[in-house]
Amino acid sequence: MSGRVILVGAGPGDPGLLTVKGRRAILEAQVVVYDRLVSPDILALIPERAEKIDVGKEAARHKVPQEEINRILLGKAQEGKVVVRLKGGDPFLFGRGGEELELLEEHGIPFQEVPGITSAIAVPAYGGIPVTHRDFCSSLHIVTGHQRAGKQLDIDFEALVRTKGTLVFLMGVSSLPDICAGLMAAGMDGDTPASIVEKGTTSAQRRVDGTVATLAALAKEHHITSPAISVVGKVCALAQRFDWFDRLPLKGKTILVTRPKDRAGTLSDKLRALGAEVWEYPCIETMPIAPCPAMEEALSHLADYRWLVFTSPAGVWALRDELDRQGKDARALYGVKLAAIGSGTAKGLKALGLKADYVPQVYDARHLGEGLPAQAGEQVLILRAELGSADLTAALAGRSITYNDVAVYSTRYENPRSEALRQALGEGTLSAVTFTSASTVKGFVSTVGADADFSRITGLCIGEQTAAEARKYGIAVEVASAATIDALTALAAEVL
Ligand code: SAH
Repeated sequence: MSGRVILVGAGPGDPGLLTVKGRRAILEAQVVVYDRLVSPDILALIPERAEKIDVGKEAARHKVPQEEINRILLGKAQEGKVVVRLKGGDPFLFGRGGEELELLEEHGIPFQEVPGITSAIAVPAYGGIPVTHRDFCSSLHIVTGHQRAGKQLDIDFEALVRTKGTLVFLMGVSSLPDICAGLMAAGMDGDTPASIVEKGTTSAQRRVDGTVATLAALAKEHHITSPAISVVGKVCALAQRFDWFDRLPLKGKTILVTRPKDRAGTLSDKLRALGAEVWEYPCIETMPIAPCPAMEEALSHLADYRWLVFTSPAGVWALRDELDRQGKDARALYGVKLAAIGSGTAKGLKALGLKADYVPQVYDARHLGEGLPAQAGEQVLILRAELGSADLTAALAGRSITYNDVAVYSTRYENPRSEALRQALGEGTLSAVTFTSASTVKGFVSTVGADADFSRITGLCIGEQTAAEARKYGIAVEVASAATIDALTALAAEVL
């Protein structure tokens, strides 16, 4: 297939503001050429097999020149690749999207453009500023405040003031004093409300409110830096009333999610919905043991067992894979009762069309062992990780229930980004780290090193066993009221 280029707008920062079509393009890309303002969570969507080219790096203050970017896009497309050019906000709004398409068009390379949510509207929105409001204005003007070195701002202030519309300035942090002075010189009332929003739509967003007469000095006083957007107009007076984003309980908090990659999504999304910045860092990975002679053997005598017990979805997947290898499916489990340690594991069973016959009230190994409705003398088959919690087997043994504890998957601890995490801990960048099992604690500690500085983070733990593991390393912990993702999210909102 011939190469092509898809210009994709990545939105203003919040990864949730990437469009569905933009996401689809990223997932099919063979090459992704991206800028500085694209959020790391969006970059994380790029498939591993795709080549990533960062053209926003400011090595020695020199970005990759525009002509060079144009040539990269052309060259990769000519190699027959599907190239995604990922840009902050919308590619055609002060994004040089048009310039990048010219060379492609000249060479007959097919291209498409996927618009993005522009910072010009979304950043004010996250700052509580609707860019239009019928009571205040009837137009919106988006203006670049970029000043070419040694040149005057090329803005027709008289024309802008005459519109009485909302004015939005991009790339205008350093030129803000000139912008405000220009507006007033052109007759704008110095009392006109004005706001500046820095790092909009991200957890680090800050907004400063003033007037055209005061905003430049206020921005300087608060050390506002790029990227930031200035808004001038009566709509800014609404900011404090409509400030929904700043009021979110986890706004300004950075939380590390240590769950395995395939299970991180829901927790991360829930934390983000409460305003947190989430770093997804899977500290553990589960690997089914295959072939697994012990499981084969146990399954060949399944009729001997009254209960089949799972302590995580990974155990369920390992069983599914084993049945699959044997050319069987869930019907092979006919007659045996199924127990799950908690709702996540029960959901895993449900995905195979199976209903858990027993889930303990409190989702942990001890309660599972104590509450399992088995009789003394009955046999229980446990399919779980190597080195699973002894609380389960001890509770069963205490009730004279015989068990066969079979390791069906192993847990691998990964640590490719340990230095960055170590540093973030030391600098206090991270507010908290979530632990959804004792093994995520072990994975986290092996990733950053047991001697890392844990004094500035809170370990948000799903249950007591997990908390006990975290305490071993001197991590201050808070424990969720129930072993569910919702309870863990609520805990974060409550204690951070
Ligand atoms: N094409 C982009 C704009 C690129 S120009 C878009 O449609 O959003 C870069 C300028 O955009 C920055 O200087 C800043 O003024 C603004 N900007 C982009 N992202 C921003 C953010 N998250 N917060 C505040 N301003 C932002």
